[in-house]
Amino acid sequence: MQREKILVTGANGQIGKVLVAALKKLFGNDNIIATDLRADNTYEGIFELLDATDSNTLSKLIMQYQITQIYHLAAVLSAKGETDPTGSWHINMSSTLNVLEAGRIFKLSKVFIPSSIAVFGQSAPKEGVPQSFYPEPATVYGIAKVAGENWGAYYFNKYGLDVRSLRYPGVIGYQSAPGGGTTDYAVDIFHKAIKEKHYTCFLDKGTRLPMIYMDDAIRATLKLMEAPSDQISIRTAYNLQALSFSPEELASEIQQYIGDFSVDYAPDFRQGIANGWPASIDDSIARQDWNWKPAYGLQSLVKDMLDHLIESPQLA
Ligand code: NAD
Repeated sequence: MQREKILVTGANGQIGKVLVAALKKLFGNDNIIATDLRADNTYEGIFELLDATDSNTLSKLIMQYQITQIYHLAAVLSAKGETDPTGSWHINMSSTLNVLEAGRIFKLSKVFIPSSIAVFGQSAPKEGVPQSFYPEPATVYGIAKVAGENWGAYYFNKYGLDVRSLRYPGVIGYQSAPGGGTTDYAVDIFHKAIKEKHYTCFLDKGTRLPMIYMDDAIRATLKLMEAPSDQISIRTAYNLQALSFSPEELASEIQQYIGDFSVDYAPDFRQGIANGWPASIDDSIARQDWNWKPAYGLQSLVKDMLDHLIESPQLA
């Protein structure tokens, strides 16, 4: 069996930090090359500086480490993207095309490029958006994700490159800080609940969105990547979610543990982004194709987050 050497872009990000640790466990420390724009001095392992829009350095690293797979996590997320639409389009699209081209040229065995629920916009039904619903995103981030999904399918169909993708919902974890998405409140709220017993939420009451606990997101990613190629029927990106909740539902569950925790609501421009997104999506094809099944619901997610953040105050 081929020994895999995996390069991860955007490895210092919210998902990257946790995914890199999981990949190291699976493939061995020396087989994971973490890359990002800046070094993280606390990181233990092989790390290289890489701007993913720089195809020359990407190629150099692939040759230097004899890379066989790429997990391309580098991106500018939804809320941050709206502050510089053309700049974030450039970063998200050119990095994605660089990774796909590298996959083709160096005949990589697999490439993972995540998408997002942000591919859906106002035209989508609020609940249970079907896998094949035509995506009409309202953000530049969503537009780039739709384009990236289609480029991935193109490279699979035209060149046989094994590109796989998930439409992640909002990801919630204790291990790392979120990096500028519209669902970041669902992580921030835990830190503020513990430290200040009060949180001012940038999304309004009633804003239900699809979410997933970090452990489930990582498990889904690894399960998708481990599945035999003939079980992958979706080559754009699989709908994926674990649960849906609104800010007040999350706050109320946190109050079960921190009784004097209070929340007020001051929606900002991110409310406009969230209003365009569905409250839930239908991930039954992921469940059929590679047995996707989330382990965490709202109660278990909140308990696990608080257990970790309270036990390890350096994380909070
Ligand atoms: P993040 O913002 O926390 O991390 C992104 C990382 O990419 C950062 O460390 C940043 O330094 C790096 N980066 C940005 N531009 C770069 C460039 N030009 N070259 C190299 N590195 C660059 O994001 P995340 O939450 O870890 O998201 C990872 C992936 O998952 C992204 O593709 C994102 O769109 C997708 N996603 C995330 C969520 C979520 O809730 N976190 C939801 C849906 C999809």
